[in-house]
Amino acid sequence: MEMRLPRWFILLVLLLVLLGFGWLLQVRLTTAPAQALAQGQQLLAAKRVLALVAHPDDLEWYVGGTLHLLANAGADVEVIVASDGEQGPNRTHAPDLRAARRAEQERAGQINGYTQIHFLGLPDRLVAAEPELTLRVAEIYQQLKPEAVFIFDPDWPAYPYLHADHQGSAQAFMRFWEKLPAQGRPPVYLFQTRQPDTAVDISTVIDAKVQAMDAHVSQGGGGTMLRRVFAADGRLVGVPYAELFRTVRGDAQPSGAQPSPETAE
Ligand SMILES: [Zn+2]
Repeated sequence: MEMRLPRWFILLVLLLVLLGFGWLLQVRLTTAPAQALAQGQQLLAAKRVLALVAHPDDLEWYVGGTLHLLANAGADVEVIVASDGEQGPNRTHAPDLRAARRAEQERAGQINGYTQIHFLGLPDRLVAAEPELTLRVAEIYQQLKPEAVFIFDPDWPAYPYLHADHQGSAQAFMRFWEKLPAQGRPPVYLFQTRQPDTAVDISTVIDAKVQAMDAHVSQGGGGTMLRRVFAADGRLVGVPYAELFRTVRGDAQPSGAQPSPETAE
């Protein structure tokens, strides 16, 4: 004789499993909102910063507001775009997508005030497989000597949009960074993270962030959705719009007069 579970019971179990997954995959602050915002304020003091992404438009979506604020504060903001995004979904808009996407990235960079854009032109979807990625990034890093670095979160990426180039480029950078002497090594701020401890209030530059995103015409812009996503991040810390980061400190000792997580309350 077979035992049959009532249908409502099976549905309930399924619902609980789904809710459990949703809970696990949620973006959750690992510090108090006030401390996350204070750390965000602190990172804006960096005078030379480097950001590494895989595709044109990654910068503007994930970290454009923060880079804009840094540029406004007089920082030297150098960015590396590893591929030209030639495998992007909207290929129909331009006969030469590589050139079109570089031009869009240049326009977005002017809006956000990047000092220099390094286009590596590596093959889209395979950037992390290229040894050239680490070589070129190391070269740019050694010339700039950044005080802060921005990359994707290689370990705790926020869902739903995952891409092998995103986490792969970040892993390549971390392998390079881990070999540097801890003394004087800059902190790394990881974006597209679901374990953020740092929040930058980007409310004053949200319009520019949208404008920079919309410069990526071949990708259809995306400004409206952008407002919704970064407003949700803002709600986590009680500001209209925020960009969130997980911080990897350069050395064991937290920089500045910041209390350790154990003593902060
Ligand atoms: Zn991307």
